Amino acid sequence: MFAMMERARLEALHLAQDPATGLQAIIAIHNTRLGPALGGCRYLAYPDTDSAVRDAIRLAQGMSYKAALAGLEQGGGKAVIIRPAHVDNRGALFEAFGRMIESLKGAYITAMDSGTSSADMDCIAQHTQHVTSTTSAGDPSPHTAMGVYAGIRATAQARLGSSDLEGLRIAVQGLGNVGFALAEQLAAAGVELFVSDLDPGRVQLAVEQLGAHAVSNEALLSTPCEILAPCGLGGVLNAQTVGTLHCAAVAGAANNQLASGEIADELEARGILYAPDYVINSGGLIYVSLQHRGYELPAITAHLAQIGLRLTDIYAHAQADKHSPARVADRLAERLLCG
Ligand code: NAD
Repeated sequence: MFAMMERARLEALHLAQDPATGLQAIIAIHNTRLGPALGGCRYLAYPDTDSAVRDAIRLAQGMSYKAALAGLEQGGGKAVIIRPAHVDNRGALFEAFGRMIESLKGAYITAMDSGTSSADMDCIAQHTQHVTSTTSAGDPSPHTAMGVYAGIRATAQARLGSSDLEGLRIAVQGLGNVGFALAEQLAAAGVELFVSDLDPGRVQLAVEQLGAHAVSNEALLSTPCEILAPCGLGGVLNAQTVGTLHCAAVAGAANNQLASGEIADELEARGILYAPDYVINSGGLIYVSLQHRGYELPAITAHLAQIGLRLTDIYAHAQADKHSPARVADRLAERLLCG
Protein backbone atom coordinates (compact mmCIF):
# COMPACT_ATOMS: atom_id res chain seq x y z
CA MET A 1 0.00 0.00 0.00
CA PHE A 2 2.75 2.44 0.99
CA ALA A 3 4.74 1.59 -2.14
CA MET A 4 1.68 2.45 -4.23
CA MET A 5 1.30 5.74 -2.35
CA GLU A 6 4.96 6.57 -2.85
CA ARG A 7 4.85 5.86 -6.59
CA ALA A 8 1.91 8.24 -6.97
CA ARG A 9 3.42 10.71 -4.48
CA LEU A 10 0.18 10.57 -2.54
CA GLU A 11 -0.05 12.59 0.67
CA ALA A 12 -2.71 10.61 2.47
CA LEU A 13 -5.12 7.72 2.10
CA HIS A 14 -8.20 7.49 4.34
CA LEU A 15 -10.40 4.42 4.65
CA ALA A 16 -13.65 4.22 6.56
CA GLN A 17 -16.52 1.80 6.94
CA ASP A 18 -19.92 1.95 8.55
CA PRO A 19 -21.53 -1.51 8.75
CA ALA A 20 -24.91 0.01 9.71
CA THR A 21 -25.29 1.66 6.28
CA GLY A 22 -22.95 -0.55 4.18
CA LEU A 23 -20.47 2.29 3.61
CA GLN A 24 -16.96 1.28 2.54
CA ALA A 25 -15.16 4.42 1.41
CA ILE A 26 -11.68 5.44 0.34
CA ILE A 27 -10.48 9.05 0.16
CA ALA A 28 -7.15 9.65 -1.59
CA ILE A 29 -5.51 13.04 -1.06
CA HIS A 30 -2.74 13.54 -3.58
CA ASN A 31 -1.27 17.00 -3.08
CA THR A 32 -2.43 19.98 -1.03
CA ARG A 33 0.44 22.39 -1.77
CA LEU A 34 -1.90 24.75 -3.63
CA GLY A 35 -4.96 24.28 -1.39
CA PRO A 36 -7.38 21.71 0.03
CA ALA A 37 -7.96 18.64 -2.13
CA LEU A 38 -11.06 18.75 -4.33
CA GLY A 39 -12.35 15.91 -6.45
CA GLY A 40 -15.41 13.84 -7.20
CA CYS A 41 -16.83 10.85 -5.39
CA ARG A 42 -17.38 7.66 -7.39
CA TYR A 43 -20.03 5.14 -6.34
CA LEU A 44 -19.26 2.01 -8.32
CA ALA A 45 -18.93 -1.75 -7.87
CA TYR A 46 -15.30 -2.96 -7.82
CA PRO A 47 -13.98 -6.53 -8.15
CA ASP A 48 -11.91 -6.05 -4.96
CA THR A 49 -10.75 -3.40 -2.50
CA ASP A 50 -7.32 -3.08 -4.13
CA SER A 51 -8.75 -2.00 -7.46
CA ALA A 52 -10.94 0.57 -5.68
CA VAL A 53 -7.88 1.97 -3.86
CA ARG A 54 -5.88 2.04 -7.12
CA ASP A 55 -8.70 3.89 -8.86
CA ALA A 56 -8.91 6.49 -6.07
CA ILE A 57 -5.13 7.09 -6.10
CA ARG A 58 -4.86 7.38 -9.90
CA LEU A 59 -7.81 9.75 -10.09
CA ALA A 60 -6.59 11.91 -7.16
CA GLN A 61 -3.25 12.42 -8.92
CA GLY A 62 -5.08 13.53 -12.08
CA MET A 63 -7.09 16.04 -10.06
CA SER A 64 -3.90 17.65 -8.68
CA TYR A 65 -2.59 18.14 -12.20
CA LYS A 66 -5.93 19.49 -13.42
CA ALA A 67 -6.33 21.97 -10.54
CA ALA A 68 -2.72 23.17 -10.82
CA LEU A 69 -2.95 23.93 -14.54
CA ALA A 70 -6.39 25.50 -14.13
CA GLY A 71 -4.76 28.06 -11.85
CA LEU A 72 -6.92 27.07 -8.86
CA GLU A 73 -5.93 27.30 -5.19
CA GLN A 74 -6.92 23.69 -4.87
CA GLY A 75 -5.21 20.35 -4.42
CA GLY A 76 -6.16 17.00 -5.91
CA GLY A 77 -8.22 14.31 -4.24
CA LYS A 78 -10.77 11.67 -5.08
CA ALA A 79 -13.17 9.46 -3.19
CA VAL A 80 -14.41 6.01 -4.06
CA ILE A 81 -17.37 4.42 -2.32
CA ILE A 82 -17.55 0.71 -3.10
CA ARG A 83 -21.15 0.13 -4.20
CA PRO A 84 -22.64 -2.75 -2.20
CA ALA A 85 -24.61 -5.46 -4.02
CA HIS A 86 -27.64 -4.27 -2.07
CA VAL A 87 -28.25 -1.11 -0.09
CA ASP A 88 -31.27 -0.55 2.15
CA ASN A 89 -31.00 3.21 2.43
CA ARG A 90 -28.80 5.05 -0.08
CA GLY A 91 -29.40 8.38 1.67
CA ALA A 92 -28.11 7.00 5.00
CA LEU A 93 -24.98 5.65 3.26
CA PHE A 94 -24.16 9.06 1.77
CA GLU A 95 -24.89 10.74 5.12
CA ALA A 96 -22.33 8.40 6.73
CA PHE A 97 -19.88 9.42 4.00
CA GLY A 98 -20.63 13.08 4.87
CA ARG A 99 -19.56 12.36 8.45
CA MET A 100 -16.32 10.81 7.15
CA ILE A 101 -15.57 13.94 5.12
CA GLU A 102 -16.33 16.17 8.10
CA SER A 103 -13.82 14.23 10.20
CA LEU A 104 -11.08 15.34 7.77
CA LYS A 105 -11.74 18.98 8.75
CA GLY A 106 -11.68 20.44 5.24
CA ALA A 107 -8.61 18.63 3.86
CA TYR A 108 -10.89 17.08 1.22
CA ILE A 109 -13.91 18.59 -0.58
CA THR A 110 -16.14 16.21 -2.49
CA ALA A 111 -18.20 16.55 -5.68
CA MET A 112 -20.41 14.53 -8.02
CA ASP A 113 -18.74 11.86 -10.19
CA SER A 114 -19.54 8.54 -11.88
CA GLY A 115 -22.45 6.89 -10.10
CA THR A 116 -23.32 9.81 -7.85
CA SER A 117 -25.93 12.53 -8.21
CA SER A 118 -26.62 15.98 -6.81
CA ALA A 119 -29.22 14.31 -4.54
CA ASP A 120 -26.36 12.21 -3.02
CA MET A 121 -24.36 15.43 -2.51
CA ASP A 122 -27.40 16.89 -0.70
CA CYS A 123 -27.28 13.94 1.75
CA ILE A 124 -23.55 14.52 2.32
CA ALA A 125 -24.24 18.23 2.89
CA GLN A 126 -26.37 17.39 5.92
CA HIS A 127 -23.15 16.58 7.79
CA THR A 128 -20.43 18.70 6.21
CA GLN A 129 -19.97 21.93 4.29
CA HIS A 130 -17.05 20.43 2.37
CA VAL A 131 -19.20 19.35 -0.56
CA THR A 132 -19.96 20.87 -3.97
CA SER A 133 -22.33 20.10 -6.86
CA THR A 134 -25.35 19.86 -4.56
CA THR A 135 -28.79 20.52 -6.06
CA SER A 136 -28.52 24.20 -5.22
CA ALA A 137 -24.92 24.50 -6.52
CA GLY A 138 -25.84 23.12 -9.96
CA ASP A 139 -24.42 20.71 -12.56
CA PRO A 140 -20.82 21.44 -13.67
CA SER A 141 -21.29 19.75 -17.09
CA PRO A 142 -22.37 22.87 -19.07
CA HIS A 143 -19.26 24.64 -17.75
CA THR A 144 -17.07 21.73 -18.80
CA ALA A 145 -18.62 21.98 -22.27
CA MET A 146 -17.99 25.73 -22.37
CA GLY A 147 -14.32 25.16 -21.52
CA VAL A 148 -13.98 22.44 -24.16
CA TYR A 149 -15.49 24.79 -26.74
CA ALA A 150 -12.90 27.47 -25.86
CA GLY A 151 -10.22 24.76 -26.07
CA ILE A 152 -11.38 23.60 -29.50
CA ARG A 153 -11.14 27.16 -30.81
CA ALA A 154 -7.57 27.46 -29.46
CA THR A 155 -6.71 24.07 -30.98
CA ALA A 156 -8.12 25.10 -34.36
CA GLN A 157 -6.06 28.29 -34.22
CA ALA A 158 -2.86 26.38 -33.43
CA ARG A 159 -3.34 23.54 -35.91
CA LEU A 160 -5.39 25.11 -38.73
CA GLY A 161 -4.42 28.77 -38.44
CA SER A 162 -7.86 30.13 -37.49
CA SER A 163 -10.15 29.88 -34.47
CA ASP A 164 -13.21 30.32 -36.69
CA LEU A 165 -15.00 26.98 -36.57
CA GLU A 166 -17.54 27.69 -39.31
CA GLY A 167 -17.51 24.94 -41.94
CA LEU A 168 -15.10 22.69 -40.03
CA ARG A 169 -15.94 19.00 -39.66
CA ILE A 170 -15.94 17.99 -36.00
CA ALA A 171 -16.67 14.43 -34.82
CA VAL A 172 -18.12 14.15 -31.31
CA GLN A 173 -17.99 10.74 -29.63
CA GLY A 174 -20.53 10.59 -26.79
CA LEU A 175 -23.52 12.89 -26.45
CA GLY A 176 -23.99 12.84 -22.69
CA ASN A 177 -24.17 15.83 -20.35
CA VAL A 178 -21.00 17.38 -21.74
CA GLY A 179 -20.98 16.04 -25.32
CA PHE A 180 -24.47 17.23 -26.17
CA ALA A 181 -23.95 20.69 -24.68
CA LEU A 182 -20.71 20.95 -26.66
CA ALA A 183 -22.42 19.78 -29.86
CA GLU A 184 -25.04 22.52 -29.39
CA GLN A 185 -22.33 25.19 -29.23
CA LEU A 186 -20.50 23.74 -32.21
CA ALA A 187 -23.69 23.62 -34.29
CA ALA A 188 -24.38 27.26 -33.42
CA ALA A 189 -20.88 28.13 -34.70
CA GLY A 190 -21.63 26.56 -38.08
CA VAL A 191 -19.68 23.34 -37.63
CA GLU A 192 -20.51 20.26 -39.72
CA LEU A 193 -21.13 17.73 -36.94
CA PHE A 194 -20.56 13.97 -36.99
CA VAL A 195 -21.83 12.21 -33.87
CA SER A 196 -22.12 8.81 -32.21
CA ASP A 197 -23.38 7.51 -28.88
CA LEU A 198 -24.13 4.10 -27.39
CA ASP A 199 -27.66 5.46 -26.87
CA PRO A 200 -29.36 5.84 -30.29
CA GLY A 201 -31.85 8.28 -28.72
CA ARG A 202 -29.08 10.83 -28.06
CA VAL A 203 -27.87 10.52 -31.66
CA GLN A 204 -31.42 10.96 -32.98
CA LEU A 205 -31.78 14.14 -30.89
CA ALA A 206 -28.55 15.58 -32.33
CA VAL A 207 -29.63 14.74 -35.88
CA GLU A 208 -33.05 16.36 -35.42
CA GLN A 209 -32.09 19.37 -33.30
CA LEU A 210 -28.57 20.15 -34.54
CA GLY A 211 -28.52 18.80 -38.09
CA ALA A 212 -25.70 16.40 -37.16
CA HIS A 213 -24.67 13.37 -39.28
CA ALA A 214 -25.12 10.09 -37.40
CA VAL A 215 -22.07 7.80 -37.48
CA SER A 216 -21.79 4.28 -36.04
CA ASN A 217 -19.80 3.92 -32.80
CA GLU A 218 -17.25 1.77 -34.64
CA ALA A 219 -16.69 4.33 -37.42
CA LEU A 220 -16.66 7.56 -35.41
CA LEU A 221 -12.96 7.63 -34.51
CA SER A 222 -11.87 7.14 -38.13
CA THR A 223 -14.34 9.67 -39.57
CA PRO A 224 -12.46 12.15 -41.78
CA CYS A 225 -12.65 15.46 -39.94
CA GLU A 226 -10.59 18.42 -38.79
CA ILE A 227 -11.20 17.83 -35.08
CA LEU A 228 -12.12 14.70 -33.14
CA ALA A 229 -13.78 15.39 -29.77
CA PRO A 230 -13.90 12.29 -27.53
CA CYS A 231 -16.65 12.95 -24.95
CA GLY A 232 -17.49 9.40 -23.85
CA LEU A 233 -15.25 7.17 -21.78
CA GLY A 234 -11.47 7.17 -21.31
CA GLY A 235 -8.84 5.06 -23.08
CA VAL A 236 -10.21 5.70 -26.60
CA LEU A 237 -6.81 6.65 -27.97
CA ASN A 238 -4.86 3.40 -27.85
CA ALA A 239 -2.57 1.18 -29.92
CA GLN A 240 -5.54 -0.15 -31.91
CA THR A 241 -7.21 3.18 -32.67
CA VAL A 242 -4.40 5.71 -33.04
CA GLY A 243 -3.44 4.55 -36.53
CA THR A 244 -7.04 4.77 -37.75
CA LEU A 245 -7.65 8.46 -36.92
CA HIS A 246 -8.34 10.79 -39.85
CA CYS A 247 -8.23 14.13 -38.08
CA ALA A 248 -5.88 17.09 -37.70
CA ALA A 249 -6.45 17.42 -33.95
CA VAL A 250 -8.02 15.68 -30.96
CA ALA A 251 -9.76 17.97 -28.47
CA GLY A 252 -12.54 16.60 -26.27
CA ALA A 253 -13.93 16.28 -22.76
CA ALA A 254 -13.31 12.64 -21.85
CA ASN A 255 -10.96 11.97 -18.94
CA ASN A 256 -7.87 9.78 -19.51
CA GLN A 257 -8.22 9.68 -23.30
CA LEU A 258 -4.70 8.29 -23.80
CA ALA A 259 -4.30 4.61 -22.95
CA SER A 260 -0.60 5.34 -22.27
CA GLY A 261 1.92 8.17 -22.49
CA GLU A 262 3.41 6.71 -25.69
CA ILE A 263 0.15 7.33 -27.55
CA ALA A 264 0.78 11.09 -27.19
CA ASP A 265 4.09 10.63 -29.02
CA GLU A 266 2.39 8.63 -31.76
CA LEU A 267 -0.19 11.37 -32.27
CA GLU A 268 2.64 13.86 -32.44
CA ALA A 269 4.49 11.73 -35.02
CA ARG A 270 1.32 11.58 -37.14
CA GLY A 271 0.94 15.39 -37.02
CA ILE A 272 -2.24 15.19 -34.94
CA LEU A 273 -2.37 17.96 -32.34
CA TYR A 274 -3.60 16.66 -28.98
CA ALA A 275 -5.30 18.89 -26.41
CA PRO A 276 -4.30 17.40 -23.01
CA ASP A 277 -7.59 16.13 -21.58
CA TYR A 278 -7.18 17.45 -18.05
CA VAL A 279 -6.50 20.95 -19.38
CA ILE A 280 -9.33 21.21 -21.91
CA ASN A 281 -11.92 19.54 -19.62
CA SER A 282 -11.13 21.59 -16.51
CA GLY A 283 -14.22 23.82 -16.83
CA GLY A 284 -16.29 21.68 -14.45
CA LEU A 285 -13.57 21.74 -11.79
CA ILE A 286 -13.15 25.49 -12.22
CA TYR A 287 -16.90 25.90 -11.76
CA VAL A 288 -17.20 23.78 -8.60
CA SER A 289 -14.04 25.20 -7.05
CA LEU A 290 -14.87 28.86 -7.59
CA GLN A 291 -18.56 28.42 -6.84
CA HIS A 292 -17.67 26.73 -3.53
CA ARG A 293 -15.47 29.73 -2.73
CA GLY A 294 -18.39 32.10 -3.34
CA TYR A 295 -17.44 33.52 -6.75
CA GLU A 296 -20.26 34.91 -8.94
CA LEU A 297 -20.98 33.47 -12.40
CA PRO A 298 -19.31 36.28 -14.47
CA ALA A 299 -16.01 35.75 -12.62
CA ILE A 300 -16.28 31.99 -13.14
CA THR A 301 -17.01 32.44 -16.86
CA ALA A 302 -13.98 34.72 -17.21
CA HIS A 303 -11.81 32.04 -15.58
CA LEU A 304 -13.24 29.39 -17.96
CA ALA A 305 -12.19 31.48 -20.94
CA GLN A 306 -8.57 31.10 -19.78
CA ILE A 307 -8.63 27.45 -20.86
CA GLY A 308 -8.08 28.51 -24.47
CA LEU A 309 -5.12 30.71 -23.53
CA ARG A 310 -3.59 27.96 -21.41
CA LEU A 311 -3.77 25.52 -24.32
CA THR A 312 -2.28 28.09 -26.69
CA ASP A 313 0.62 28.45 -24.27
CA ILE A 314 1.09 24.67 -24.00
CA TYR A 315 1.04 24.29 -27.81
CA ALA A 316 3.70 27.01 -28.14
CA HIS A 317 5.94 25.26 -25.57
CA ALA A 318 5.36 21.91 -27.28
CA GLN A 319 6.35 23.31 -30.65
CA ALA A 320 9.45 25.03 -29.27
CA ASP A 321 10.60 21.97 -27.28
CA LYS A 322 9.54 19.39 -29.91
CA HIS A 323 7.53 17.48 -27.29
CA SER A 324 3.90 16.42 -27.30
CA PRO A 325 1.47 18.83 -25.60
CA ALA A 326 0.60 16.03 -23.15
CA ARG A 327 4.20 15.82 -21.90
CA VAL A 328 4.49 19.63 -21.73
CA ALA A 329 1.30 19.84 -19.64
CA ASP A 330 2.53 17.14 -17.23
CA ARG A 331 5.85 18.94 -16.81
CA LEU A 332 4.19 22.31 -16.14
CA ALA A 333 1.81 20.74 -13.59
CA GLU A 334 4.63 18.89 -11.81
CA ARG A 335 6.59 22.13 -11.54
CA LEU A 336 3.60 23.82 -9.88
CA LEU A 337 3.01 20.89 -7.54
CA CYS A 338 6.60 20.42 -6.46
CA GLY A 339 7.53 24.11 -6.18
P1 NAD B 1 -22.25 11.13 -19.48
O1 NAD B 1 -22.28 9.81 -18.79
O2 NAD B 1 -23.36 12.10 -19.27
O3 NAD B 1 -22.11 10.91 -21.06
C1 NAD B 1 -21.24 10.02 -21.67
C2 NAD B 1 -21.90 9.63 -22.98
O4 NAD B 1 -20.94 8.94 -23.77
C3 NAD B 1 -23.09 8.69 -22.79
O5 NAD B 1 -24.20 9.18 -23.50
C4 NAD B 1 -22.59 7.34 -23.34
O6 NAD B 1 -23.61 6.58 -23.94
C5 NAD B 1 -21.57 7.83 -24.36
N1 NAD B 1 -20.51 6.86 -24.68
C6 NAD B 1 -19.73 6.15 -23.82
N2 NAD B 1 -18.86 5.39 -24.52
C7 NAD B 1 -19.10 5.62 -25.83
C8 NAD B 1 -18.54 5.12 -27.05
N3 NAD B 1 -17.54 4.22 -27.04
N4 NAD B 1 -19.03 5.57 -28.22
C9 NAD B 1 -20.02 6.48 -28.24
N5 NAD B 1 -20.60 6.98 -27.13
C10 NAD B 1 -20.14 6.56 -25.94
O7 NAD B 1 -20.84 11.76 -19.08
P2 NAD B 1 -20.43 13.30 -19.15
O8 NAD B 1 -20.66 13.92 -17.83
O9 NAD B 1 -20.98 13.90 -20.39
O10 NAD B 1 -18.84 13.14 -19.29
C11 NAD B 1 -18.25 12.74 -20.51
C12 NAD B 1 -16.76 12.57 -20.34
O11 NAD B 1 -16.18 13.80 -19.90
C13 NAD B 1 -16.36 11.54 -19.29
O12 NAD B 1 -15.16 10.92 -19.69
C14 NAD B 1 -16.11 12.38 -18.05
O13 NAD B 1 -15.21 11.75 -17.16
C15 NAD B 1 -15.50 13.61 -18.67
N6 NAD B 1 -15.65 14.82 -17.86
C16 NAD B 1 -16.88 15.23 -17.50
C17 NAD B 1 -17.01 16.39 -16.74
C18 NAD B 1 -18.37 16.92 -16.33
O14 NAD B 1 -18.44 18.07 -15.88
N7 NAD B 1 -19.43 16.16 -16.48
C19 NAD B 1 -15.87 17.11 -16.35
C20 NAD B 1 -14.61 16.66 -16.77
C21 NAD B 1 -14.52 15.51 -17.53
